[in-house]
Amino acid sequence: MDKITVTSPLLPPLDELTPYLQDIWQRNWLTNNGHYHQQLENELCKYLDVPHISLFSNGTLALITALQLLELKGEVITTPYTFVATAHAIKWNNLTPVFVDIDPTTFNIDPTKIEAAITEKTSAILPVHVYGTPCNDAAIKAIAKKYGLKVIYDAAHAFGVKENNQSVLNYGDLSILSFHATKAYSTIEGGAVVCKTLEQKQRLDQLKNFGFESETQVSVCGINAKLNEIQAAFGLVTLSKVGDAIKARKKIAQTYDFALANVKGIRLLNNSSNVQANYSYYPILVERNDLHISRDKLFDKLKENNILARRYFYPLVTDFKAYESDNYDPFFARCVSENVICLPIHPSLTKEMLNKIIKVLLNVFDYKQ
Ligand SMILES: *Cc1c(COP(=O)(O)O)cnc(C)c1O
Repeated sequence: MDKITVTSPLLPPLDELTPYLQDIWQRNWLTNNGHYHQQLENELCKYLDVPHISLFSNGTLALITALQLLELKGEVITTPYTFVATAHAIKWNNLTPVFVDIDPTTFNIDPTKIEAAITEKTSAILPVHVYGTPCNDAAIKAIAKKYGLKVIYDAAHAFGVKENNQSVLNYGDLSILSFHATKAYSTIEGGAVVCKTLEQKQRLDQLKNFGFESETQVSVCGINAKLNEIQAAFGLVTLSKVGDAIKARKKIAQTYDFALANVKGIRLLNNSSNVQANYSYYPILVERNDLHISRDKLFDKLKENNILARRYFYPLVTDFKAYESDNYDPFFARCVSENVICLPIHPSLTKEMLNKIIKVLLNVFDYKQ
């Protein structure tokens, strides 16, 4: 059997993409807020149930520009248990990241620990909906209100996620999405900022286009973060497939849930019943067990069987050289980071592959059905 990867991109059928490409060639308009770019922004607003979206060439530039839009100063509170781009976006804005530990049950920033990290310099909180699990927005909102802070959610994992039938992308002042090929929904590379007002959207559109306010005026240092027409067309076709892809992911998650529920040595992440998830990750924690199977040992065993799981997020952001000087050692984030492993979950994963993964896992933990 071929290698089984942790994720696999959602590809648009070529015969469905071709008419779009022909149309782009005919229009002879390749980028700069083109026809399909506008259509994709509109369709994403409807699909995600959000008021305004500005598309970006990737999620990192979306994050950097979202922070720039809010004209922040000083310190921004965030989590060490995330992809490194979250912290990078803070530094690219000449702001200082201040790390706060996670809640070991949700893997998201622990709101009860945020207040202790607030100083006179704090201007915002940048939480991450890790694996698409919604952050405790009510608690974060209350703290933000009390101290007059902005809230920007890194929602790179939370495409289409709802809580109590409301899109989590409407939480906070702004949310950012990533449409990288490894995410639940992709435009190959791509991203977006979700915002509340048309004014904010127009400002974001300017900032991602060098800061041009008109043909002859630029008043701030914007960047080039525009998404092109070919990627927008790719995104329009995959948008019509993403609902089915999420259903396929859900089935895989349920199969894992059922098969692994009673295996000593494996802890599963509980999904809350009021959350409509996107199942883009399937993290498990390797717990202390009589067989002394560590996370890394499991990782190697899976690899021996051509199953490429991922230690995600490991190492912690605060363990990278670029953040070492912050000198911060988060207890729970470290525990999770050292014991977590994300299993393969994507629509191209066949039943045969899934059964093989489960068989290997049960074998490693010596589980008799
Ligand atoms: C993927 C990801 C990003 C960055 O998105 P890109 O589109 O790859 O730039 C940021 N934050 C998190 C949590 C991510 O997973």
